[in-house]
Amino acid sequence: MAEKEAPAAAVQLPARRSVFEAAPEEDLLYSMSADGKRKYMHPVVRKGRYWKIRRALAYSLFALFFALPLIPVGGFPAVFLDLASRRFHIFGATFNPTDNLLLAAFGLGIIVTVFFVGSTFGRMWCGYACPQTVYLEFLFRPIEALFEGGPVKQKRLNAAPWDLRKAGTKAAKWAAWAVVALAMSLTFVAYFVGFSHLLWNLVLDPLSMRGTLFTVAAVTALILFDFGWFRDQMCTIACPYGRLQNVMADKDTILVAYDDKRGDPKAKEKDRLPDRVYGDCIDCKSCVASCPTGTDIRRGLQPECIGSAQCIDACDDVMRRIGLPIGLVKYTSEREQAGEVRRIIRPRTIVYLVILAIAWGTLAALLLTRGDAQIEIVRNGREPYRILPDGGVANQQRLRITNQLREEQKFTVEVLSPRGTSLVVSESPVVVEADKVVTVDIVTTVAQGVFHDGQVPVRYLIRSDRGFRKEADFLLLGPYGEEGEEKRDERHEQKGGKH
Ligand code: SF4
Ligand code: SF4
Repeated sequence: MAEKEAPAAAVQLPARRSVFEAAPEEDLLYSMSADGKRKYMHPVVRKGRYWKIRRALAYSLFALFFALPLIPVGGFPAVFLDLASRRFHIFGATFNPTDNLLLAAFGLGIIVTVFFVGSTFGRMWCGYACPQTVYLEFLFRPIEALFEGGPVKQKRLNAAPWDLRKAGTKAAKWAAWAVVALAMSLTFVAYFVGFSHLLWNLVLDPLSMRGTLFTVAAVTALILFDFGWFRDQMCTIACPYGRLQNVMADKDTILVAYDDKRGDPKAKEKDRLPDRVYGDCIDCKSCVASCPTGTDIRRGLQPECIGSAQCIDACDDVMRRIGLPIGLVKYTSEREQAGEVRRIIRPRTIVYLVILAIAWGTLAALLLTRGDAQIEIVRNGREPYRILPDGGVANQQRLRITNQLREEQKFTVEVLSPRGTSLVVSESPVVVEADKVVTVDIVTTVAQGVFHDGQVPVRYLIRSDRGFRKEADFLLLGPYGEEGEEKRDERHEQKGGKH
């Protein structure tokens, strides 16, 4: 500002803080007053460039959340987490609990994506895409403002004694929130039971949906509790992501920070002395007032900061009004704060990208090469094998067939080797409806003489009337035979000797 022409030696600048240095302990919980009572946040939002980007993203995420259980893809909702059948339908792909490799690749992909996003973009996830921020800032707070007015009016109303007007306003606000929460809850539950199933049953036979109704009521209550009362405390007290961020972040991670070189020493315009040098911060506290968690970003990076960038928009607005360049509070990194150039590609980024490519690449490859059915054969019965009166050795097994087609398939099973093996299947053909799983019992009988060391591999061929064909191997158990019995006795003796 104008006072900057005065000699620089006149004022002692405070020692530079690291942006990772936490605020004094007594100021860490901005949502708590000195007497331990909760401070309710009423952020004064400036509708700047970042707020507009966040709003556009928020509306897109709302649309996505409400549309996904409604849009059909391949005969199922786009996202349908069918817990009753223990299968997930995601954009036309069906995942079964037996898809171990697929689920492992998916889990690894998600975990590494979180680390990659956290280390590169810091808490931008929290500010731009986390449902907690998105629904609170762009749905529940606007509804609150509709009934109670802006932040100042809200504070006045809260401080006012209870009368008919206050009770009416609060009741109307909570009723509107309840309608929104119910819609969110129904949509959330529809992800697990299907929207049409949910609505038809609720209309035609609500008593058959007691469990679902209870879930809808509980989720509605939780949403109201969280967005109506708990609010910023979810981010500052309950959510572990902010704490995890300290592990994921490094000097090149993007963060929101106050430029203390430029801003300090801060002072209100009216308090500035003519013989002193001041920074650009006029200590108006617009940045603090705009913060949804009440954080004072000028104290450095703190766990309470959820990267909403509302302080950037607020400070930019102040800078424009007093005729100074914007960017006193801005997106930067610790390295940039120290006057160096931020590195976008660094060793940890490369490692994350390589693992991400492996995880998502494996998932894509597995999805693209999935067969029309999944076959599993497991041992069954209490005894490993039974010697039949005719000398044959019988093994009991279970054959589990998962039909991954959208049409019924009829499966048959036969044995390819060893020759002379007989097979009994509890039903043949095995009829499996679209996207269903059927388990049948099978008994495989082979001659005693084919066993070697009490084992013999058997190969089955499973085919369907829709062209599916798969060969599956299994190890049958049986007697050791004379030579084998001797070997087994020798082994038992050796074991006994050791004891
Ligand atoms: S300090 Fe700034 S970026 Fe951090 S939560 Fe508050 S307003 Fe958002
Ligand atoms: S909004 Fe900008 S000028 Fe005002 S107190 Fe915050 S950093 Fe300083």
